[in-house]
Amino acid sequence: MTITLYNTATRSKQPLEPIEDGKVSMYVCGPTVYDRAHIGNARAVVVFDMLFRLLRHEYGADAVTYVRNFTDVDDKINARAAAEGRPISEITEETTQWFLDDMAAIGALEPNEMPRATAYVPHMVKMIEGLIEKGHAYAVEGHVLFKVRSYADYGKLSGRSVDDMIAGARVEVAPYKEDPMDFVLWKPSDADTPGWDSPWGRGRPGWHIECSAMAYELLGERFDIHGGGNDLTFPHHENEIAQSKCAGHDFASIWMHNEMLQVEGKKMSKSLGNFFTVRDLLDQGVPGTVIRFVMLSTHYRKPMDWTEKKRAEAEKALAKWSRLLGLFVFDKRPENIAVSEANQGVVAALADDLNAPLALSRIHALFNQAKKDQGKYLELAASLKLVGLLPKVRYRKDMSEEEIERQKEESQVQSEAREIVGQILERRKAARELGDYALADDIRQQLEEAGIILTDRGAGQYSYNFGPDFDPAKLEALK
Ligand code: AMP
Ligand code: ZN
Repeated sequence: MTITLYNTATRSKQPLEPIEDGKVSMYVCGPTVYDRAHIGNARAVVVFDMLFRLLRHEYGADAVTYVRNFTDVDDKINARAAAEGRPISEITEETTQWFLDDMAAIGALEPNEMPRATAYVPHMVKMIEGLIEKGHAYAVEGHVLFKVRSYADYGKLSGRSVDDMIAGARVEVAPYKEDPMDFVLWKPSDADTPGWDSPWGRGRPGWHIECSAMAYELLGERFDIHGGGNDLTFPHHENEIAQSKCAGHDFASIWMHNEMLQVEGKKMSKSLGNFFTVRDLLDQGVPGTVIRFVMLSTHYRKPMDWTEKKRAEAEKALAKWSRLLGLFVFDKRPENIAVSEANQGVVAALADDLNAPLALSRIHALFNQAKKDQGKYLELAASLKLVGLLPKVRYRKDMSEEEIERQKEESQVQSEAREIVGQILERRKAARELGDYALADDIRQQLEEAGIILTDRGAGQYSYNFGPDFDPAKLEALK
């Protein structure tokens, strides 16, 4: 199936045509590690995790290379270390692990490579040297600055001219800059700040150069997809492009940006008291799958609102799905449920610029079919696995004595229930034969209220299933 993606650079949807046949490479800007990830950060992670899963489904797990960096050198990190009187490395290591744990909890697969900026400083220095040599950068007072006006296409990604940007942006006017738009590639460090030796003295890299250097080291001169939140389009991605193109690299073919997340209609901010982290939610008992579901229920290119209502709806839908799948004992372990068995409509929705809300609604329709037809259970499970929402399913060989016992009891409840349903259906049949359709309808409704789903097989034949809301007590009362 062809995957089409919206490319910010061309402002249009285009088919993904990998540079190397049958292989896909993707770079996504990762977190600056100084604090817990908030739910806005989680949105970007879930969006690109969904894309990663779709690409693996289409091209094969080994054919996709996903790189997401950790920015572990940054003034915000230095400030936190100073405020807490702790070493920087302790802060970055702790925060990196928090991030990995929290993202695993919301079902995000680990990227293939997770480079830390501090491990690539020599590569950044080399790239900066090359930019100076080619006349795209200059060293002054221990700084190295990128000469924005030396790159004619600057501003193309975000659709602004350099002059507009100067007028609109709060650019830092420093005396050593040749032009106010020039941005930092390298800056000096004092004795209390992390620093590396370089041709321009002891210092540290600017933020933008790390992604250009790491993408080049890990993916080469060209790669297929570059992603991030749309707050990064300008200046971060504009600067990444300028650096990489001027270094002679083709860089990314498709630029993808997720829209921002808000909370109850308002920008998330600490001062409004509506700021929360993924860990806050998990600690409140919100399951990671619920967080993921809410993230996927809005298209990634639309602003998304985190609301209590959506959280509750997600919880309800997931509970229904997992209850239904829990009624079934699978002959396959969850890890062996193949996503290739996922519903084609679900895959097609995702392949159309990652339309996850449509994929979820198709899963819902599939759930409605599966309620009546056990033959659909595996397809439902595979589709849920594809979107990273597969609940715990029961695998026959993994069940303990106790569980098998419980399962037997459950089956016992169901076999007693079958007897009752059989009697009630007889009554219904009789009512129909007597032409009392009102009573027949009434009986059907009572059965449905007890969670029994009737399917009309034609010619007066009915089959039924125990739905996820099956309530033995309610059925007993109908006897
Ligand atoms: P940061 O650590 O702030 O640089 O952000 C890490 C990632 O999260 C980037 O891809 C950002 O674009 C993304 N991000 C930050 N805030 C939000 C938000 N409110 N909604 C969606 N994505 C966000
Ligand atoms: Zn980046």
